[in-house]
Amino acid sequence: MSQPSDRFWKLPAALAAGLVVGGLLGWLAGGHVATGVALVAFAEIVLLLTRIRHVTRHIMPANPTISPLQHDRFMTRSRRIASSLRDLRSAAGSLPDAVVLLDNDQHVRWFNHAAEDLLGLRRPQDRGTALHERMGTTELAGWLHDGAHEPLNDVIAPGHPNRHINVTLLPFGRRQRLLLARDISHLTRLEQIRRDFVANVSHELRTPLTVIHGYLELIDPEDVPELAPVLGEMRAQSKRMGQIVEDLLTLSRLETQDHVTDERVPMTPLLATIRKEAEALSQGRHHIAIESIAEADLLGSPKDLHSALSNLVSNAVRYTPTGGSITIRWKRTPAGATYSVSDTGFGIPATHLARLTERFYRVSSSRSRDSGGTGLGLSIVKHVLNLHQARLEIESEPGQGSTFSCCFGHERLLKPGMQDDV
Ligand code: ADP
Repeated sequence: MSQPSDRFWKLPAALAAGLVVGGLLGWLAGGHVATGVALVAFAEIVLLLTRIRHVTRHIMPANPTISPLQHDRFMTRSRRIASSLRDLRSAAGSLPDAVVLLDNDQHVRWFNHAAEDLLGLRRPQDRGTALHERMGTTELAGWLHDGAHEPLNDVIAPGHPNRHINVTLLPFGRRQRLLLARDISHLTRLEQIRRDFVANVSHELRTPLTVIHGYLELIDPEDVPELAPVLGEMRAQSKRMGQIVEDLLTLSRLETQDHVTDERVPMTPLLATIRKEAEALSQGRHHIAIESIAEADLLGSPKDLHSALSNLVSNAVRYTPTGGSITIRWKRTPAGATYSVSDTGFGIPATHLARLTERFYRVSSSRSRDSGGTGLGLSIVKHVLNLHQARLEIESEPGQGSTFSCCFGHERLLKPGMQDDV
């Protein structure tokens, strides 16, 4: 194969050879050596120019000439694009949310100032590093390592132990990712203030309410027959207030908890107790049945699970007219096991279903109050289930009835009487 230096000498050698041949031909044609050399030199120059033109056209076929006007326009447009890019970059750079551009392997390509603050990234050394490794042993690192499928909510910012962030990973461009981390510290603080306020108010109300309720119980209606109806109403209302305070305190406790005790909760006796409570509340007005075929116990907090599961039955009794039926089921599903309570009661219009677990949300305030509800029952159920990694499903048809189901995963199930998971 010829080397570049060999190729460099090929052209001058060919030109020189051409000139020698031209001189020879001129000498053979009558001693006109110079004329022969000149003619060949002219032909070689024409040939070279043709080649240069051909090569130039090949390189710039569509743009043989650019007029000064076109050149100016082109330059103006380039400057505008460059300035827009600079603006975009500086806007992204000064966003209050952390923005990190990642390649397909989660290596950092670019990040803004907030990412330095919230995620602790440093310039220039963190460009090109693998983000999940750079984040060390933080929750964020684990989340990235597991594929970051769902947004990550309320975690400590790796670069700032006093800040809380929500993190999302979005697809960006061709096989790139954009990591967005939003500082939610102010919301977390407000939420904490709200929780503390509710817990403190409930706690402060508990003692005076107990005293009032105690004195009301001491008064015998027969001693003051003219006040008997008033006394009855005062007792019922103070009892209701007491129940609201207790439910608020339960909710405050559940909200601050991030896990539950892992105790065996035997389901056969628990279902029997729930049924007894329901019958006491129903006073024979409903037909109550149990179908327990799961053959599994639960793993979690006995007190909280009892409270949540019996709450659904108490709702079914309170929102089902006399003569209706209530069925409590505990059965296996492919995902684990489901505890459900079906009734043939009033039912709930579909528009209310999504909001039922909000505090004090009621479909009908008067019906809830008349039936002795606090408006906090389903909120407590939701929190208890969350702490057991379970979820609440509600199906309802107005005038037909409702089914409230608690879906537990395999990890929360135990074989009755044994210690291993089902
Ligand atoms: P409450 O103490 O008012 O019953 P909950 O949080 O337990 O509060 O329930 C919220 C609302 O959901 C109730 O006010 C009621 O309107 C509706 N609800 C709950 N369970 C049922 C049910 N089984 N049938 C019809 N409506 C129900």
